[in-house]
Amino acid sequence: MEIKKVGVIGAGTMGNGIAQVFASKGREVVLIDMVPAALEKALARIEKSVRRFATKKELDADALAGEVMGRISTGADVDALGDCDLVVEAIVENAAVKTELFGRLDTICKPDAILASNTSSISITVIGAATTRPGQVIGMHFMNPVPIMKLVEVIRGQLTNDETLATIMAECTALGKTPLEANDFPGFVANRILMPMINEACFALMEGVADAPSIDGVMKLGCNHPMGPLQLADFIGLDICLSILNVLHTEIGDPKYRPCPLLKRMVAAGLLGRKSGRGFYTYE
Ligand code: NAD
Repeated sequence: MEIKKVGVIGAGTMGNGIAQVFASKGREVVLIDMVPAALEKALARIEKSVRRFATKKELDADALAGEVMGRISTGADVDALGDCDLVVEAIVENAAVKTELFGRLDTICKPDAILASNTSSISITVIGAATTRPGQVIGMHFMNPVPIMKLVEVIRGQLTNDETLATIMAECTALGKTPLEANDFPGFVANRILMPMINEACFALMEGVADAPSIDGVMKLGCNHPMGPLQLADFIGLDICLSILNVLHTEIGDPKYRPCPLLKRMVAAGLLGRKSGRGFYTYE
């Protein structure tokens, strides 16, 4: 199937980048968020990012921004997604909220549409079971920041069919990304490995092993990581990190995934990292 029109639900950290990459490759995009201010912020971020890209590549920034922004429309309700070939969901990392949304999408979207989730950890099989088309439900796990990061982790649920997988692998390649397949286990590959490291960094901070800049500095200079784990947690969003750890802990049942109490306390206090202006560090 050729993907011409794409719905993106959730205009937060991930949704705006996902909308940008599809629109930049000529897809018509409908970006949905229940918070109008999130849509305004997303459009401003996308335009800024497209202009930065144009300047870097010595292209006409006005022309490129006009072209890409012209392909993106916005709305508050998923009812607008009826004629999309593909819908990518990037809302809150909560299984009940996602399954409720997919049940609704199933009734709204045309029968051959593919429904994808950008979930970091939640079972694609469970999300697919909320629809009457589990064969056309798949995980498309983009990495943050979406316009820059090459990887899309593609997750096949228990009933995802071969045609859906082939269409999504081809679409990722058409977007200039490298798709890698993972099976439907909690956290898939990326977060199964990344989140325990971030959690351990939180424990190290809580126990006073070192302060945040030292923990990050050791991992950057000593292990050649481009970002330290606490800096990365701020970038991802501490609420998202906690949600993923909760899924790993509950679903795998191994106490090694127990979320650090400091992380829980920071999320309860609204210290979510970059997006709230303060996490392990403070942002302008
Ligand atoms: P975010 O909190 O930045 O944004 C979520 C957006 O979804 C918000 O604007 C919110 O208003 C909107 N929203 C919530 N429920 C909605 C609904 N029912 N209908 C319409 N809009 C709704 O979150 P994010 O960091 O962009 O994460 C989104 C998804 O992507 C999550 O599943 C997360 O696990 C996954 N993810 C996040 C990252 C990351 O680095 N932050 C990386 C890969 C995947």
